[in-house]
Amino acid sequence: MAKVSIGLRGWRFEEDEIFSDDEELKPLDEIPEDPRERLLRLVSLVEEPCDVCYLDYGEAEVHRCNEAEIVYGEPEGEVLLCPEHEPDLLYWFREEGGSEHKGSVEFADRFHEWVAAGNEAPEGYGSVEHVEEDPDGLPDLPDQQEVQERIEEGFEGERIDILELARGEETDREELTEEELAESDLDLSTDYPSDR
Ligand SMILES: [Zn+2]
Repeated sequence: MAKVSIGLRGWRFEEDEIFSDDEELKPLDEIPEDPRERLLRLVSLVEEPCDVCYLDYGEAEVHRCNEAEIVYGEPEGEVLLCPEHEPDLLYWFREEGGSEHKGSVEFADRFHEWVAAGNEAPEGYGSVEHVEEDPDGLPDLPDQQEVQERIEEGFEGERIDILELARGEETDREELTEEELAESDLDLSTDYPSDR
């Protein structure tokens, strides 16, 4: 069964859990709970800055940060990275004990602390990794805009369930997503870099 990434590289989905036979995104209520939660979380992450850039520049200079292209870790404890800073995460994960936090929502905090302490990957570390790790290539996917629209359409059909999850409070879409995820007990088979 093929695995695919959407929007951000890193989190991978079983293709047939989220796409119908004609490669359209399924309605949300036909997607199993775990991948659905990650999809919803992804929507709130796609235009966020890279964590390492953000630690460098801070809110005041957020415009200087690269937009994240990669996500590792668990929903609510994820690390967002630009390609330039992905080697830092890979290095921390493999060489600096980061893999001990695999599966934990502490994952992101521990990495952020490591970066904030002035650590980084050695020059030239692990930069072309993902090309080798994805020998099958990605299938043709709808572009991000389309995925987002499909997900938002999905929300329309899901309104009742989602409102229930949000304890019936009338809030906007983004807050619903956050709340729903904050309340859920997440134990997802999220992908991590390989240990090698
Ligand atoms: Zn960056």
